[in-house]
Amino acid sequence: MNNHVSVLEIDANAVLHNLKYFQQKLQPTTKIMAVVKAFGYGSDAVEIAKIIQDKVAYFAVAYTQEGIALREAGIKTPILVLHPQLQNLEALVQHYLEPNLYNFTILEAFLKMADEMPLMNYPIHIKFNTGLNRIGFWHTDVPVLLSILKASNNIKIQSIFSHLAASDDPNEENFTTNQINNFAFIVKQMYDHLDNEPMIHILNTSGIINYSKAQFDMVRLGIGLYGFGNDENVTSELKNVVTLKSVISQIMTITPGETVGYNRAFVAKDPTKTATIPIGHADGISRKLGNGKGYVLINNQKAPIIGNVCMDMIMVNITNIDCKEGDEVVVFNSQQMIEEIATKCETIPYETITAISQRIKRFVIR
Ligand SMILES: *Cc1c(COP(=O)(O)O)cnc(C)c1O
Repeated sequence: MNNHVSVLEIDANAVLHNLKYFQQKLQPTTKIMAVVKAFGYGSDAVEIAKIIQDKVAYFAVAYTQEGIALREAGIKTPILVLHPQLQNLEALVQHYLEPNLYNFTILEAFLKMADEMPLMNYPIHIKFNTGLNRIGFWHTDVPVLLSILKASNNIKIQSIFSHLAASDDPNEENFTTNQINNFAFIVKQMYDHLDNEPMIHILNTSGIINYSKAQFDMVRLGIGLYGFGNDENVTSELKNVVTLKSVISQIMTITPGETVGYNRAFVAKDPTKTATIPIGHADGISRKLGNGKGYVLINNQKAPIIGNVCMDMIMVNITNIDCKEGDEVVVFNSQQMIEEIATKCETIPYETITAISQRIKRFVIR
């Protein structure tokens, strides 16, 4: 099966390098939960998990189905499902995935099922909302929550966690410090009444970089694993993980007055040589990159995208580039290029890399 033309290369050594970088920043006793949700931030969750499974304590995914995919690929590491849904709880347990129970609705549903099955000491995680206001129990829920949790031996609280809203923003230092302090206070109240001491975690990638004092027992490393540190200095110490490549399908030479692509958006002023590349907005190349805003690299030279981005193709200007049909095209191969694309699309690298569609074949480079 060597017939795919657009490919996403995943650099295994870069993943290992990035993991090591963060490990060295942390206390030797701090565990790492590697976040591989959304197909490993658009790369390949199973491949990422295989590369680092012996080196991390936990994996985290957003949804049950993502955890099942890891289990079906043979991953044995504990997996936290950050946002399990009521209708998936049975499947979750069947695959020995560990649910985040984030409110009374899902906690009670899980306890009911756990009692019926029955489960014994099944590992679960409790999330508190400390200011992101997305999912999680409130501080004021602690007494009722404790009474429910203590009444069940079907479950075992494996960890208590929260999530920072603005760990990457120095202007929000007061808010973030407050989140951390409030979380520590909640944890103390929980510890005072629980028989065991569950693991504690609140830091994501930028939390590790900016608030390392709050590393507690574990950190949740997401974007950093894929090479982005939210700060130029850190990013420059990380290695780029994903490289998006394609090939030239066809080269055309058009005369002045002729146009390229839908709605004739590009009008040639001079004789123009174009290359058509088999990758389009259905593959994650935003239409915002059309009409000269974005470019690809062909033989290390910038070839601007001309006209509108099509669903399955883009056309680029190669008038001054020496190349031929079948030559390699680089859509991005560095964090800087990904950041540049994100900026042009008015977004952040998280969205740019997770947008790469599943139609694009993934390859691991070792
Ligand atoms: C996605 C996510 C993370 C990882 O965040 P990064 O900024 O990518 O490190 C951590 N915790 C939770 C709850 C998340 O949803």
